[in-house]
Amino acid sequence: MAEGKIIKALSGFYYVKSGEQIYQCRGRGVFRNKKISPLVGDFVSFDINDPNEGYIMEIKPRENELVRPPIANIDQAIIVSSAIRPDFSTLLLDRFLVLIEAKDIKPVIFITKMDMIDDLKNEEIESYKKNYEKVGYDVELLSSKKPNSLPELEHYFKNKVTVIAGQSGVGKSSLLNALNPSLLLKTAEISESLGRGKHTTRHVELVEVGRGLVADTPGFSALDFSNLELGQLTDCFPEMRADKEFCRFRGCMHHKEPGCSVKQAVKEGEIATYRYEHYMKFFEEIQSRKPRY
Ligand code: GDP
Ligand code: ZN
Repeated sequence: MAEGKIIKALSGFYYVKSGEQIYQCRGRGVFRNKKISPLVGDFVSFDINDPNEGYIMEIKPRENELVRPPIANIDQAIIVSSAIRPDFSTLLLDRFLVLIEAKDIKPVIFITKMDMIDDLKNEEIESYKKNYEKVGYDVELLSSKKPNSLPELEHYFKNKVTVIAGQSGVGKSSLLNALNPSLLLKTAEISESLGRGKHTTRHVELVEVGRGLVADTPGFSALDFSNLELGQLTDCFPEMRADKEFCRFRGCMHHKEPGCSVKQAVKEGEIATYRYEHYMKFFEEIQSRKPRY
């Protein structure tokens, strides 16, 4: 039996990449009665019955999975923010970080449009970069309009499955196109000239970028915390994680508890004030959520 990764699902077929070869496969009847059905990103074993065709026999256990886009076994999510147009927002970035951390996916931060800002703004972005690096995240500042520097980013993608996240207009498609010109993803200019919006396609496909695979549809478009519990939130801020033994009591929510060392660390400047403020904002957002019946 052969093994490979599903890179595309379309019209009842699964396209399985094994080595350099792609096989058009059907899911054997075995999946019909089970709760699990094959997903893009699944590692599967399959029977080859024609030179390029086969039947999927087994899905290997998943590391994680997303509903939108429907993908399994994601190694990392690259959050794309722009330095300007739209303005860089730590609130939005932190929101993405929380949603990605909550899915047990590793976040990486890319900040685009660095060619469009003045020195002052540049200093500001550099200082945020340091903040996030201190928290433990990789941060890259880049410009998709200056492709010379982009090869340095390829190592992020190598041998990984990546989902790109970020609000519309930050330059997600431009970046992927610059890294792999054969992709021809629709950017803002192209959609405008065609007179229709982007992302009209429903299916998701893993495309090659920097010797790795990237979902061609952005993920994490729903930015609310409706699936998040309060107890999970502290784990989504690495600098506030309980396992760092910051606080006197295990399970401290860093809210009104006495002797909370996270609040102390904020006072002393060890934890960025805005990060703590965003934590509290998200905390209140989850707390005030109407219970679901
Ligand atoms: P998406 O919605 O995140 O996929 O964003 P697009 O890739 O469509 O980019 C939105 C706009 O920003 C387009 O007009 C791009 O040409 C422009 N853009 C994207 N990245 C950069 C960059 O690094 N520098 C500059 N100057 N413009 C960029
Ligand atoms: Zn605490």
